Amino acid sequence: MIKDEKLRNSLLESFPDLGYRKQQKIENEHMPQYVLYTQVKKGVFECYCTRCRRFYTNDIVNGRHFIKGIAHKKEGTCLECNSVVTYLAMGKGRKSMWHKENFAVFIAKEENLYIRCFTVYERFSANGSRGYFGDSAPLDFEWYEVQRYCLTPNGAQHWDARFNFNSNENRWCKKWHPLKSENDPDFRTGGFYANNSYVVIDREETEKTFLIYADKCISQSEYPAIKGNYIKCLCEFAAHPNIEYLIKSGFGYIVSQKLAEGTMDGIRINYRSNDVKKMLKLNKAEMSLLKDRGCGVLSAYLTLRRFDPATNENLRFQAACRYKYCIDTLIAIMNKTNLSLRKVLNYVEKQEGYYGIRDWNDYLDQCIKLKYDTTDTLIAKPKDLHKAHERLTKIIKIKADEIAQQELEERNQKLKKMEYVDEKRGLQVVVPQSLQEIINEGKRLNHCVGGYVERHANGKLTILFLRTIEKPDVPYYTMEVSTDGRIVQCRGYKNNRANNPKPQEISDFEKEYQQYLDVLFGKKTKKQRLKISA
Ligand SMILES: [Zn+2]
Repeated sequence: MIKDEKLRNSLLESFPDLGYRKQQKIENEHMPQYVLYTQVKKGVFECYCTRCRRFYTNDIVNGRHFIKGIAHKKEGTCLECNSVVTYLAMGKGRKSMWHKENFAVFIAKEENLYIRCFTVYERFSANGSRGYFGDSAPLDFEWYEVQRYCLTPNGAQHWDARFNFNSNENRWCKKWHPLKSENDPDFRTGGFYANNSYVVIDREETEKTFLIYADKCISQSEYPAIKGNYIKCLCEFAAHPNIEYLIKSGFGYIVSQKLAEGTMDGIRINYRSNDVKKMLKLNKAEMSLLKDRGCGVLSAYLTLRRFDPATNENLRFQAACRYKYCIDTLIAIMNKTNLSLRKVLNYVEKQEGYYGIRDWNDYLDQCIKLKYDTTDTLIAKPKDLHKAHERLTKIIKIKADEIAQQELEERNQKLKKMEYVDEKRGLQVVVPQSLQEIINEGKRLNHCVGGYVERHANGKLTILFLRTIEKPDVPYYTMEVSTDGRIVQCRGYKNNRANNPKPQEISDFEKEYQQYLDVLFGKKTKKQRLKISA
């Protein structure tokens, strides 16, 4: 984008006209040519040619009959002008036809390249007052200019046609809206799925402008993204003319990726220099290693070089090629172990190769978690990485289980008060002693309390066991109590859906126990209030 608004506007005003002749040339040479025909009587066809715009009847031209050659959508020749045409049958069912084509017209003016993008419609409709095709030439071309570009040595500008309603003139007015970035032209005003392909007219005009070498450079490039984004690439040339040197010296892949994906994987280019070595900050050896590769490899190479400038170039290059998708992991390992790149690569290759690198990094993280010294090579490079990784996974799991159990015990101290004995009914509320106990309860009673274990451990809810005084170890009913002391659910075997409806005795006990909880939680709040007031 050209930042200077005044300059932008003056460029917009300086757009050259297309001219009637050029317009007609495009219509004649680039729009499809048809002979529209309709049968007037057996063997006689009335024809109209869109190229020479003449009417004729096929049976009288040069006294010859051409009935055989005429078929709908078939290629043929106009009998008047000998142009190659496509036959289109008109008549009862069909009274009109239309075709649309997109054009980007190049015009050189002074040093600049102006591009005007048009959608051209070719329409035909029969009016039928004289014969089938009527009196006047029924063919019409409509031109709509949808985008504009101006490419200057100071950068490129792209505009989009927008329509605003002018209430003074009571009509819609076209305004050119400057776009922030230069993409290939968008002709899809007729909806997203409309055809966006276009024909470049007078491509050689580039040679009269400052872009004299750009066109050749683009057409010789082997990267589809460079060829396939022709105008976008020209704009890139206008912004940074020396990308020519990148393309010519085997680093076109950077330009290609920028055009196709909009990113260069963090590769920085010094556009002020004309020397590719300085543009990319590479030495001669690096240039020959990294040309014709890809942004992934170059970016990985540069990342490694920033981290460890002393390493041998070939080794770094090998690492970049092989580990380009996990270069950060490679560096993380070097950081954690203080090992050189060579030693890291040697070890990884001896272990599981490419796939081992993430496991190794995980293993090192486990070491750090367990406060082992990862700079000690005996720890950093275990003989069998896989086994060592598994061993630490187990140790960490046991530790985690220990911590969870410890937390639960602390919590159980607080839950002790929720235990309750009802001697009259022979029932009691028991606090689970371990998480495993809750899981077992779920298995025995065939309900889903096992899924509540984690929330119970975190104190988001409380699971309690309702058991008989007689058999205190046998699962009977399971209760969920919310953090504010409300019984949320109390369920028996298979959620009481296996022909075992909840006995009245249990429901009565629930009511009684809820009253107990109310007092328990109520007292708590009273105590807190006392504390606050004290
Ligand atoms: Zn003709």
